[in-house]
Amino acid sequence: MASKRDYYEVLGVSKTATDEEIKKAYRKLAKKYHPDANPDNKEEAEAKFKEVNEAYETLSDPQKRKAYDQFGPDGPQGFGGFGGSGSGPFGSGFGNGGYYSYTSSGFDGFSDFGDLGDIFSSFFGGGARTNSRTQTKGPRKGADLNLSMDITFEEAFLGVEKEILITRPETCSICHGTGARPGTSVTKCSVCNGTGTVRQVQNTILGQIQTTRTCTNCHGTGEVIKEVCDNCKGKGTVRKQARIKVKIPAGIDDNQTVVLRGEGEPGEKGGAKGDLYITVRIKKSSIFTRDGNTVMCEVPITITQATLGARLKIPMVDGSVEEYDIPEGTQTGTKFTIRDRGFKSINSSSRGNFVFTVLVQTPKRLTREQRDLLEKLAVTMNEQPPIKKKGIFG
Ligand SMILES: [Zn+2]
Ligand SMILES: [Zn+2]
Repeated sequence: MASKRDYYEVLGVSKTATDEEIKKAYRKLAKKYHPDANPDNKEEAEAKFKEVNEAYETLSDPQKRKAYDQFGPDGPQGFGGFGGSGSGPFGSGFGNGGYYSYTSSGFDGFSDFGDLGDIFSSFFGGGARTNSRTQTKGPRKGADLNLSMDITFEEAFLGVEKEILITRPETCSICHGTGARPGTSVTKCSVCNGTGTVRQVQNTILGQIQTTRTCTNCHGTGEVIKEVCDNCKGKGTVRKQARIKVKIPAGIDDNQTVVLRGEGEPGEKGGAKGDLYITVRIKKSSIFTRDGNTVMCEVPITITQATLGARLKIPMVDGSVEEYDIPEGTQTGTKFTIRDRGFKSINSSSRGNFVFTVLVQTPKRLTREQRDLLEKLAVTMNEQPPIKKKGIFG
C-alpha cells in the first residue's frame, strides 16, 4: 500500500477535532474536490475526492478513529488497514467502469448535507442512466466500414462505376438477426428482468448507495437465447461477401471520399445500417497532372515549330485530340490554355481548363541535308543574338 497522508491532515483538522468539526471539514472538501466542479483537472480532483472520503470514513466512525489513532493508517496486524480501494463508498466507483446511481433515500439521516446531495446526484446518476440506455434500450446504428479504392486519372476525369467485393457482417438470413434457432424464442432475461442492468444496494457511511452494473447473464442485452441459431452461432450476423456497385463521380480528386449510406454493418434492434466510406486514390498519369480542376501537360515541339509556328495536336484526358495553333516565335516554357477541357467540378456544372506547356527540343542528331540547311541558316544569322534581347536560340 502506498504511503498515505495523515487522515487529520487530509481533512485539515486537529487530532482533537470534534465529530461536528470533522463533518464540517469533510463537507467543505468534498465540494471543493468534486470532479464535476473541477473539469480542468478532473483526475487530480478525483484522487483528492477519494482521499477525503477515505479519511472521513475512518475519522467519522468512533471505533475506526480510535484504532487509527492507536495504530496509524495501516492498522494493527490482521486489521487490514483503513479505507483503501473498494472499502469506501467511492472506492470502486472511479475509472474502472463501475457506475453509481444516487437515490434520495440514500442520504437519509444526513439531511444537513442538503445541496451536497445535488452534486452527488448529478455525478453518480448521469453515468448509470446514459450507460444503461446505450447498452440495452432502443435501436443502435450499425458500424461504419472504411476502405480505399484506386482509380486511374482518366477514370477520375470521366467518372466511373466500379463493382467491389467486400466481406462484411450481414444479418443472418436464418434467424433474421435474433440469434435464436428458428422456432425457438428469445426470452426476457430473468436476472435483470430485461433491463440489461442489475442494481445493488450498498450500505455506506453516506447511507445507501445504489450501484448499477451490466447484467452478466445477458451481457446487457436484456434477452436470453435458449437455443442459438446454427447459422450464426447466436450472433445474429454472419460474415458474407457482398458485391457493391460504387459510382465515382467525374471530377473526384485524390483522397476524396465517397459515402454509400446503408452499406455498412447491420444495426441492432432494428437500428439503421452503418455506412460505407470509400476513400479514392488516383493513380498518377504519365501524361497529365492536375491542380484543382485544371489539367496540365507538357508538349514537346521542334525548333522549326517554335520558330515558324505550327498546328499542334494536343491529347485530351478523355482520349480526344484538340488542335491548337501556336504562333511563330514561340519560346520554350510558354503555357497555352484550352478553356473548359479540365476536370468537371463535383459541385457545379463548371469545368476547369486544360493548360499545356511547350518544350522546345534541340535536335541531337541531324541528317546530312538538315545539317546543310542549318549551316546555311547559321551563316545568315551570323552571330550570337545580343544579350538581353532574346533571339530565337536564346
Ligand atoms: Zn442466425
Ligand atoms: Zn440480464
